Amino acid sequence: MSTGLDKSEMSKKPTVSQAPSESRLAGAGGVRTRFAPSPTGYMHVGGVRTALFAWLLARQNGGQFILRIEDTDQAREVEGSIQHIIESLDWLGLNYDEGPFKQSNRLDIYKKWAQKLLEDGRAYVDPFTSEEVQKFREQDQVAKKPFLYRNHVGEEQRNNHDWDGTKPLRFKCEPKNWNWDDEVFKDHSENSFQPTRGMLHGNMGVQDDFILIKSDGFPTYNFAHIIDDNEMQITHVIRGQEFLPSMPNYLNLYVALEFQIPKFAHLPHIMNEAGNKKLSKRDGAKDILDYQKEGYLPDAMLNFLASLGWNDGTQQEVFSVDELIQKFSLSRVQKSGARFDEKRLIWLNGAHIRAMEIDDLYEQSKDYWPESAKDSKDSYKRAILGLIQERLKMYSEIPELTDFFFCDLPINPELISGNKQLSNFEPSKLKNLLISSKEALEKTDWYVDEIRDCLNKLLDQNQQKPGVLFSLIRIATTQSPASPSLAETMQLLGKEKSLTRIQQQIDTLN
Ligand code: GLU
Repeated sequence: MSTGLDKSEMSKKPTVSQAPSESRLAGAGGVRTRFAPSPTGYMHVGGVRTALFAWLLARQNGGQFILRIEDTDQAREVEGSIQHIIESLDWLGLNYDEGPFKQSNRLDIYKKWAQKLLEDGRAYVDPFTSEEVQKFREQDQVAKKPFLYRNHVGEEQRNNHDWDGTKPLRFKCEPKNWNWDDEVFKDHSENSFQPTRGMLHGNMGVQDDFILIKSDGFPTYNFAHIIDDNEMQITHVIRGQEFLPSMPNYLNLYVALEFQIPKFAHLPHIMNEAGNKKLSKRDGAKDILDYQKEGYLPDAMLNFLASLGWNDGTQQEVFSVDELIQKFSLSRVQKSGARFDEKRLIWLNGAHIRAMEIDDLYEQSKDYWPESAKDSKDSYKRAILGLIQERLKMYSEIPELTDFFFCDLPINPELISGNKQLSNFEPSKLKNLLISSKEALEKTDWYVDEIRDCLNKLLDQNQQKPGVLFSLIRIATTQSPASPSLAETMQLLGKEKSLTRIQQQIDTLN
């Protein structure tokens, strides 16, 4: 990954304006996408999905993926967020080709473009204090009108281009009806913004004289992202659908700046599990790096994130990263909200674990073995891993599933009393079953097939169901309600240990 040096400080001549309906790729080369998070806290699934879609598009087209930190709202910045963003992308393998660029290092660039707008008569000095603007807002609310700043400012004031940087600089907008094509939301025109569609008032109604540069010298998101996307020759702007209603404002600015207009893809909201509201921290939108700590596979996480709003039109659910790169397309991203279901993530994680080569699995899960395993041989642990691979859904389950292989767990009487089939038996009956099992196993050569044969013969001999006899032997040898195949488990445990544990269980049954 590249380091944090800003490389794109050199200026570029504004290019000829494009009618938005004919928007085309801005860069001379191929596809260039970016991820532009604000460092306002930890990254969660929403942000990372945006990064993934932008990364997939770049990789699929042999293009570039750029990381840009949008840190112009200093009051909202949370310490450590930038590091967190970088670590999250790193964990998931979403490598960037350029950046990270920090907007706070690029203030001169925004000023230069602000100057151009002033010269062209398309920017003016805000004559009001923020308290006055707040009053206008309240007046409009009382009058039940949508608030528009431009309704409160006189034409003469809009012509004050004499800016010394101490007051906010505003855009002098020229509202018009826009038609544009969103890669996901498709045709957009005035009608797209009817309240019935959950969008804002009306197309003309949202265009306003928004702030370009604040009195603290920092640009607003509305201004900076357009400058940067142009400077960085971004061809596809991919971001959350919450930015869709502001598009007429942005298109206005593109034209005023005489910038080429990139393609836009707004991604659907991620909804909670019930699908009835946007996913919030309360509904489980947790720190993406928590999934790493819990032992999820990056590839399973990417597969899961890709499925939040995208499918390839077939029944396929499990995709490798290479398949995602190959098959992803913006045109198959849905408009409706995508339901976040963590159970599906767990399932996908298990599917990815099952598909792994044992050596890779062993390598990747190295940090998750229980303390009790620290002196055990690699070959033993690898064999155990092979046994549990089928049922393992995440690495954090490894200690619970394997502890008994490394240490003798205390006899837990609840495993029998809590077992539906076993709790009906008298302890003396269970004891006799274990005694006869032990006798037969003692005479068995310790290979999986022989052990399996012996266990099956014991079923016949004792006229018992596997649910009874095997559960009992499993509890005795593992002190766990479930384990991988009993014969394989006992084989790995070894004859002596298996028989000793059965004897210990016998001793407690009175
Ligand atoms: N900084 C914006 C955010 O974090 C990014 C929007 C964009 O991608 O343009 O929401």
